[in-house]
Amino acid sequence: MNELVEYPDVFLRTKSNEVKFPLDDRTARLTKWMIKMMYQHHGIGLAAIQVGYQNRIFVMDCTRAGQSPQIFINPEIIKHSNRSLTDYEGCLSAPGKRGEVKRYLRITLEYKDEKGEEHQKTFYNMEARCIQHEMDHLEGRLCIDYENGEYSREKNKSQTMVESDFRAKSDS
Ligand SMILES: [Zn+2]
Repeated sequence: MNELVEYPDVFLRTKSNEVKFPLDDRTARLTKWMIKMMYQHHGIGLAAIQVGYQNRIFVMDCTRAGQSPQIFINPEIIKHSNRSLTDYEGCLSAPGKRGEVKRYLRITLEYKDEKGEEHQKTFYNMEARCIQHEMDHLEGRLCIDYENGEYSREKNKSQTMVESDFRAKSDS
């Protein structure tokens, strides 16, 4: 099985870049590869950064059958509900860990598909949570950074130190 980028790798902390259209071959291949990797690892969502690419792309499939992959490129949340829910989340890049994260129950997303066509769609509950999780990846945030529902910069700061130490150790 192909490995994913895993915590505490500092690469997961980097911000991903806007994707240009039309997609070049490499990026087109990347979207197909990400779908394959998401299913291989039994995830419901996967961001490009998790397979080693700093592109603003994520894929998602929250259906049970696992045959309805969706590709989201350059996504932006343009509207969200007032109501939110705090729940536990896991991440394929942080095996065995969980974060308690507050997410909006409903979001409206603007994004492009692999053909460069623009979409606007509203998502609820599980899909809305999954999208907010993947959007965090594009900003270099992880669900395990959250404490009691809230994103904690403090927690992130200390982790970054730990990560640098880790990187220094694994480089030597
Ligand atoms: Zn994740």
